This record gives sequence, structure tokens and C-alpha cells, in this order.
Amino acid sequence: MLKKILIGSLLTIAALYLGTPLAAAETRAVETPYGAVTQPFKLHQVGDTPVYYIVGKSGVPDAVNEGHTSNAGFVVTSEGVVVFDVLGTPALGYRMLQRIREVTELPIKLIVISHYHADHIYGLQAFKQHAGDPPVLAHRGTLGYVGGSSGSQGEDAERRLAQRREALFPWVDENTYIVVPDQVFDDDKQFRIGGVDFELKYLGPAHAPGDAVMLVHNYGVLFGGDVLYGGRIPFLDSPETDVGKWMEGLAYIAGLKEQVRYIVPGHGSLSDNAQEVVNTTRDYILYVQAAMAVAVKEMVPFDEAYENTDWSRYENMPAFAASNRGNAYRIYLEEEAKAF
Ligand SMILES: [Zn+2]
Repeated sequence: MLKKILIGSLLTIAALYLGTPLAAAETRAVETPYGAVTQPFKLHQVGDTPVYYIVGKSGVPDAVNEGHTSNAGFVVTSEGVVVFDVLGTPALGYRMLQRIREVTELPIKLIVISHYHADHIYGLQAFKQHAGDPPVLAHRGTLGYVGGSSGSQGEDAERRLAQRREALFPWVDENTYIVVPDQVFDDDKQFRIGGVDFELKYLGPAHAPGDAVMLVHNYGVLFGGDVLYGGRIPFLDSPETDVGKWMEGLAYIAGLKEQVRYIVPGHGSLSDNAQEVVNTTRDYILYVQAAMAVAVKEMVPFDEAYENTDWSRYENMPAFAASNRGNAYRIYLEEEAKAF
């Protein structure tokens, strides 16, 4: 009995020693004007370039991850900073701004948004209020989101904001508002800031209307937005997703070849093997498409087709449980529409 108690106490002490410091580090709250952020908020550098990024967690935005589910990054030039996406709450945007300020005091010259979805844009408010109101640039297709209902069957600004005020309170509340782009572009746009050449390319509608990627020529870095996912299952399950266009976009990125050394995806980890990321995303879409096309052709109902498909090569990837079935269903519907 005594032995049992002793072992029990030793285990508790061991757990305290091993567990507490880590837990404390993970839950250290950093105050922002928009609520405290307790999420680990590491800044990564791309190789030895002046390009930096932050990686969100896998999963749906909720009170546990505080909405920190997407990636964002920035490029430091001699004139100032170009930001690409700004994370999913004003508080996270503010944390990102703090991280930028640890690297440079230069002004924020421009913010480019990959696509207007809540997990990538809610940080804009913090930049507008605390970084000298920098201009926000996005593709013209994003105006459907901010304009409300005009043909948007998927995510639209007002509905999503109402949902996030519940799911992400207090980080998203009645003071949170949608910042619309100050400038839009059409097919592509090139510009130079502080000696760095940037190229924006519209690849949508792939994952969403307005999908754009940003190539930073000087450093061979591509910010992929949600057209590219690093080491996880992509999200195709939206009425706005256009798989055909998505594949064309991936082919375009593959064609850039050695111009792209690194890919910072919209979700998931960075890759220094750009072609591998493209191939993984493409292979996944093709695999689901092939399986669902056969099922539609043989008139197999979706549930049965899904159960009969061998998912073993993907089932251990992050976001499989959350996204795979919905993705397959979306593609099944697309194949059905093609057939009839
Ligand atoms: Zn996203």
C-alpha cells in the first residue's frame, strides 16, 4: 500500500516536472487590444531570405485554437514590408504586427490577400488601426464576398461574421468588422517595392473566388494561399470550389519550375520542395475525382462509393477526418453534373 502511494507520488512529481513548464509556455497569454492570445505564435524565416511566415493549427476555427488556423507571411524590403494574408482574428493580426516589429520598424507598405475567407482576413482590422492604414490589395473576385449576396452561394461576409462572433468570442465580437480591399486587380499584377519584384497571379475560382498567389521573384518564394496545402488534405467542399480551375492553377505553378524554391501554403507547413507540394495536392484531387467518376458512371450511390474507396494513402494525413468525406461528396456532385 505504502509502496503504491510512494509510486503514485513519484509519478505526480514527475508529471509536474515534465508537464507544467510545457503547459505554462503554451498557455502564456499575450494581451492585445482585441483580447489575449494564448496560442504559440512562432515566427519562421524562409531559408536565409527576408521572408517570414506564421503557421496556424490544423482544424476548424474555434475557442480552443482561438481562430489560429491559417498561415500568413511577410517580406521585408528596403522601403518597407509587404504582407501576405493576416490570420483569422484582429487579435492574431495584432500579434502578427508585433512579430513584424521584432524584425523591422519599416512601414507596412502593402497587404495582399490571397482570397476573402474569414480565416485569412480578420487580422486586417488590427493593421488598419495600428499600422498606419496600409492599402489592402486583392483580386476583383473577392468583391462578391464583401458585397454580400451577389451570386455568392458560399461564404459571404455578413453570415460568416455572425457565425464567428459566436464561435470565436471574445476575439471576434460586435466591434469586429470586415475590411474591404482598397485596390483590386484582374488577371495578374506585377510591382516592385524596395528592390523586390512581386508578381500576383489570379488562379481562381479554385478554392474560392479571387484565389491569388504571390511570387517573390528575388527569393524564389511563392505564397500559395488556399490553392496549396502543406502536408494535409485540401478543402474542396464548398459550392464555390472549381476543381477544373484548381487543376489549371496547379499546372501553372508547376510550370514556374525553378522560379519557385519555397512554397508557403495557406494551411500546413512550408515546403522547400515546391513541386512536391503541387504534386501532392494534384494527386489527391485526381485520386478523389477518378474514384467518384467511376461511381457516378456505374450509378453507385455516394455513401456506398465512399465506403468502397481505398483511402489508406490519405487517412493518416491531417484534416482527413474533417475534410475528406465532404471533398469526395463535392466531387461526386460535380461528376454527376457532368454526366447529366
Ligand atoms: Zn483558409
